[in-house]
Amino acid sequence: MAVDILIIGAGGVGSVVAHKCAQASLDGAFGRITLASRTESRCKSIAESVKKRLGVDIATAQVDADNVPELCALIRAVKPFMVLNIALPYQDLHIMDACLECGVHYLDTANYEPPEKAKFEYKWQWAYQDRFRQAGLTALLGSGFDPGVTNVFAAWVMKHRLDEVHVLDIIDCNAGDNGQAFATNFNPEINIREVSATGRYWERGEWVQTEPLSWSMNYDFPDGIGPKKCYLMYHEELESLAINLKGLRRARFWMTFSDNYLRHLAVLKDVGMTGIEPVDFRGQKIVPIQFLASLLPDPATLGPLTRGKTCIGNVMRGVKDGKPKSVYIYNVCVHEDCYAEIGSQGISYTTGVPAMCGAKMMCEGKWLAPGVWNMEQNDPDPFLEDLAKYGLPWQCVDIPEEEKF
Ligand code: NDP
Repeated sequence: MAVDILIIGAGGVGSVVAHKCAQASLDGAFGRITLASRTESRCKSIAESVKKRLGVDIATAQVDADNVPELCALIRAVKPFMVLNIALPYQDLHIMDACLECGVHYLDTANYEPPEKAKFEYKWQWAYQDRFRQAGLTALLGSGFDPGVTNVFAAWVMKHRLDEVHVLDIIDCNAGDNGQAFATNFNPEINIREVSATGRYWERGEWVQTEPLSWSMNYDFPDGIGPKKCYLMYHEELESLAINLKGLRRARFWMTFSDNYLRHLAVLKDVGMTGIEPVDFRGQKIVPIQFLASLLPDPATLGPLTRGKTCIGNVMRGVKDGKPKSVYIYNVCVHEDCYAEIGSQGISYTTGVPAMCGAKMMCEGKWLAPGVWNMEQNDPDPFLEDLAKYGLPWQCVDIPEEEKF
């Protein structure tokens, strides 16, 4: 029998997750769906859209996910099989605590980040390993696109295309344009903290640091997107992949940014608007980046404004049958198509579909071993089959030796 689920977070990604879970519930994947967030009116407008587009009723609720007793009261009332945490990384540990206390499974899309320090690492969540295992519960970490699909792509390539992997480059291209002077495609505070951080990549067993956005390369993207400048950044999936992809010698993450975005970001940083330390403003403490985030467009409103494609994937170089081999595994997604289907832009869509697919794997018992897991530790095949079925088709092509970089 299909099991009930509780989604927490009604932002840009939460809306996609709610729509996609409703769609999959029509195929029998989920039972009753409840969407809760800090602001219940946001949940209600998403529920209206789900009803209008798919004819599925979803329940809504208000919750402060930083308050564990409040979360537990909601979980006990809803009695879900699992919680999908689609709020912010700051809530991860509170929601994991509540899941343990109430005996339900857990999934998220981004690893924990302490609000007072712009540092994201898995150590805080990996520390829950024994408690989840002993409770017989599963916590699936990072079930978005990157992290998420990029981890599963890596596992699929290791299962089907390479015997050894030596070099991994994850390349995230948003070739779309929202026509705004400066806007982020997901939560502005989290996005700016991530982009302004020191760059880091893995090489021969060590982390190498780079100045923020100081390294770049050009990559020629498929499907008519063409060449784009990509910047080296640290990204959380590198941490688990460096451990789980045995034999890996180098792992890097790249993202495209327009010159306009980088120019605005540099000015905002120079004048102190991206700071995370509270400052005194006329007798009141404010955190500059939070004030800035409140002025920027809400990512959930960018759907009708965004045109163009995203292309996210992995270039992987290694050995097959004793010979050198390189492959590129990727998805291309069209912003306008996402908006036409469920009223969202492509970044929210490419995050929300894999969150639903990860939850579906857990609810169907395919990815349900007790413990705390990163995505690449599971069988990639059923997940990637569903990913394509629910809106994100993907492909894997060989890269000729003369084109490798
Ligand atoms: P938004 O800011 O649009 O939405 C976040 C939602 O969480 C809002 O609805 C907000 O509340 C709710 N929320 C925040 N704090 C609390 C709280 N204490 N209690 C309850 N609800 C709360 O963010 P996005 O939708 O863009 O991003 C959601 C998540 O997805 C983030 O963690 C982000 O890092 C991650 N992400 C992952 C990606 C990946 O590929 N893995 C890519 C993009 C994003 P309210 O109801 O008041 O609005």
